[in-house]
Amino acid sequence: MKAQYEMRAGLEIHVQLKVAAKLFCTCDFSFAAEPNSCVCPVCLGYPGALPVLNGAAVAQAVKAGLMLGCEINSVSSFDRKNYFYPDAAKNYQITQNFNPLCRGGAIEIQVGDGEVREIGLTRIHLEEDVAKSVHHGDCSGIDFNRAGVALIEIVTRPEITSADEAVAVLTALKELLLYAGVSDCNLEEGNMRCDVNMSLKHCGVAELGTKVEIKNINTISGVQAALRYEARRQGDILAGGGSVEQETRRWDAETGKTVAMRAKEDAPDYRYMAEPDLPQLGVTAAEVARLGSELPEAPAKRRIRLVEQYGIPAYDAGVITGSRFLADFFEESAGLCGNGKVVSNWIMTDVLHLVGAHGVAIEASRISPVELAELINLVNSGTINAATGKELLEEIFLQGGTPTTMVESRGLGQISDAAMLEDLVAAAMADNPNSVNDWLAGKKAAAGFLVGQVMKRSRGKADPKLVGKLIEVSLNGIRTDCVTTAECGKGEHQ
Ligand SMILES: [Zn+2]
Repeated sequence: MKAQYEMRAGLEIHVQLKVAAKLFCTCDFSFAAEPNSCVCPVCLGYPGALPVLNGAAVAQAVKAGLMLGCEINSVSSFDRKNYFYPDAAKNYQITQNFNPLCRGGAIEIQVGDGEVREIGLTRIHLEEDVAKSVHHGDCSGIDFNRAGVALIEIVTRPEITSADEAVAVLTALKELLLYAGVSDCNLEEGNMRCDVNMSLKHCGVAELGTKVEIKNINTISGVQAALRYEARRQGDILAGGGSVEQETRRWDAETGKTVAMRAKEDAPDYRYMAEPDLPQLGVTAAEVARLGSELPEAPAKRRIRLVEQYGIPAYDAGVITGSRFLADFFEESAGLCGNGKVVSNWIMTDVLHLVGAHGVAIEASRISPVELAELINLVNSGTINAATGKELLEEIFLQGGTPTTMVESRGLGQISDAAMLEDLVAAAMADNPNSVNDWLAGKKAAAGFLVGQVMKRSRGKADPKLVGKLIEVSLNGIRTDCVTTAECGKGEHQ
């Protein structure tokens, strides 16, 4: 049966800016700090304390706007959102309601088979965070550390049509903001929180249905689950002939349900008014241009460029550009090594394997792009074999070290001198007559066993390709001898 209803969802995403001080005072904020230890009269909301705008926060917000293709308003202003709630001691929150810093813009997402869609943004504005209520049994406390922390609120248009698209929006946004260094986007520490507006509309009708807001979801999977739940809940109500109430709900991750909190407030309920303690905020075109020049290439563009410039597969480029650190690491190493494709292979198979195996992020590992390039060049030039290269990689990844020095001081250089290897080949064959016989009887895999024996005798230093050739030559020599002496097939070789 064809679906009767379609989802239309918009997100309001609160992102904590990566700045040293709060938005209107000089307090710093650390997630791990003792409750109420990062506070001053301004962020505690004392009467008479005056806010002073943090310029670094404005710069970060402008960068976020530029990364998302917004128009940066040369003049914006602050407003008070009034409400009585224990988490806002001054009974209002300073935000930008009437004149936000950024307007427009879009987030690009991939849907289905590589199809690209744009989800439009209405605005990005600056606002302060509020305090946090902490509940212990039947008593509650308030921690003001978070009060006044610098946030941006990114508001999308209601253009999201599925829970999976919402996931794609949040994932793309996180990637962009991390790239630009605007936020740490650490969801566990509440760096990114999301309010979701969702309604169902009849298919083929332009008019949107009644919207429900789901507050303060702090995981991407939570947004996905909440949207799926709401789609079912509202769909059942509509299918039963009922109507959806406009209300604010909250997501209960434990029960996997949304729960009604209150009838939705509309803008008039907040009695927004211009903030009298802050002047208008002016941002010049020159400042916007300077901040724009500090921005990195967007990950989506970089992905395409890496494929074209280095000839690496699109999948690898996607993994590598997933983190700006890794993408920078790759490009520096590729430049030094002179072969991006080989560097990409080492990163995809070996370096990322070590990241997973040891649970150490590449940022925290001891290897640098310089050492990776040096190591790869030692393998490519035949100075060491691939197996030695991989062993060294693991050691450098965990403990650090310079590949060339390690190879020289430990005598790890690959033995590529045929004269030196011939003795080892002869000894391996003399000690393993059964393998020689197997090979003569047609079991070609026996040659591999003999190569392994030579590698063992050389303590892993022999050039395995050269050993393979030498073994082949020797075995062919024995076969020729057999045929010429007519002993083959009736004697010991059978
Ligand atoms: Zn403060």
